[in-house]
Amino acid sequence: MHTVFLSLGSNIGNRLHFLRQAVQALQENVLTEFTGSIVLETPALLLPDSPSEWDRPYCNLVVRGKTHLEPEALLSALKAIEDRCGRHSQHLRWSPRTLDIDILLYDSVCIQTERLTIPHSELKHRDFLLHLLALLEPELVCPGTQETFDALARAALQKTKTKWKHAYVLFPQCMGIVNVTPDSFSDGGCYYQPDAAVAHCQQLWEEGASLLDLGAQSTRPDLTHTVTWEEEWSRLQPVLERLDPSIPVSVDTYYADLVEQLLSQGKISWINDVSGRLPEKTLQHIADAGCAICTMHSLSVPPKTGEYVTSLLPTLAEWGERQVEMLTRCGFPLDRIVLDPGVGFGKTAYQAGVLLKTIDQWKRLGVSTLLGHSRKSFYAALGAYGARDRDHETVAISLLLKNKIDYIRVHNVAWHQRALVAQQMVENCYASSGHFDGSRGTSARSLSMD
Ligand code: ADP
Ligand code: MG
Repeated sequence: MHTVFLSLGSNIGNRLHFLRQAVQALQENVLTEFTGSIVLETPALLLPDSPSEWDRPYCNLVVRGKTHLEPEALLSALKAIEDRCGRHSQHLRWSPRTLDIDILLYDSVCIQTERLTIPHSELKHRDFLLHLLALLEPELVCPGTQETFDALARAALQKTKTKWKHAYVLFPQCMGIVNVTPDSFSDGGCYYQPDAAVAHCQQLWEEGASLLDLGAQSTRPDLTHTVTWEEEWSRLQPVLERLDPSIPVSVDTYYADLVEQLLSQGKISWINDVSGRLPEKTLQHIADAGCAICTMHSLSVPPKTGEYVTSLLPTLAEWGERQVEMLTRCGFPLDRIVLDPGVGFGKTAYQAGVLLKTIDQWKRLGVSTLLGHSRKSFYAALGAYGARDRDHETVAISLLLKNKIDYIRVHNVAWHQRALVAQQMVENCYASSGHFDGSRGTSARSLSMD
């Protein structure tokens, strides 16, 4: 087996999505003993006369793993992954790309052939690659030199004076919450105006959300006044119209009429059905449109104080099995089904604790899981903090459960990415099974390249 270091970069469309796909393909087909760096955003490196539209920031990471492939065969395997991620084989050098995978190091050998230069010819000139390599393995000596990556990275950074703006992780995926409502429990009114909602969407996206969950109706406990589907649509329409089409969008609704309206516009990737009770005909339409369905366990929406599920775990297990069976019958492939156990919907604070402690049991259903624990009222069991002030607790639980779930539905994406990045710097691992990328799908917003 040979130890290799690869760099992965993307600067068009849904960049983290392409990197995620590549990491999954590498883990499945090419590398064992996989470790991955954090994802760093860096400005594009361009030639002086490059067109200005090529100047788009990259997301980069470095991965290490073992392979039995010889260098030329490895390059071919990497090119096949680039092709699958939509890279044009005829692309111009330095031009934007959905995915670039380069071989940085192959054992400690130096190779120069017609197709390959190893160590990669640009390695010494790219401070971010030296930095990511040094984060992974600072004591490693760069082949062909006497210097460690620790020394090389420090020297390069001293010269370029680069400051990293921010970093991301690829897993778990963050679904960013955007409440286009006047009355939501933790941020009611902040994003009710379309411009404020669009700006918030853009911000959460730049902070590293995989997709955004737009909700036009509050589901806070004991809400008495519900709005009609037409009212939900009038809140959502101006936001969807203005939003960058490369951002995958989920809509949180339980109205079949609104779902039909949304599907006819083709601008969404997911429906997030918090009632878990959309009619089968509507579900079939969602499946036919190539969108994903997220379905949540609840007793009532909005939840009623004092109404709680009995025999929590058997009830939920049975519900999950029934949902998967019914959704499959409606035409959803397993990789477009997402189950949310519904923390805070018909569960006591004590039951919420049990749910979180047993969250990994959902994996056996073979679909993705989403955890909606952000700022929920069960945190009141831990102290008298207001709904807007529960991100500490939310982040702590996200860190603890990150390998047991696929999606976390959160208000504060920036804090999540910062905490997860710090953890990734030390762990350098991504759980290799059970994750899938539900932001794919065939709808217009899912995989847009430009
Ligand atoms: P970039 O230089 O931006 O990575 P490409 O991915 O298009 O651009 O690479 C162009 C060619 O560089 C590849 O087709 C490959 O034959 C060659 N090449 C030389 N050395 C390497 C390497 N270490 N890793 C990947 N490709 C390499
Ligand atoms: Mg390349």
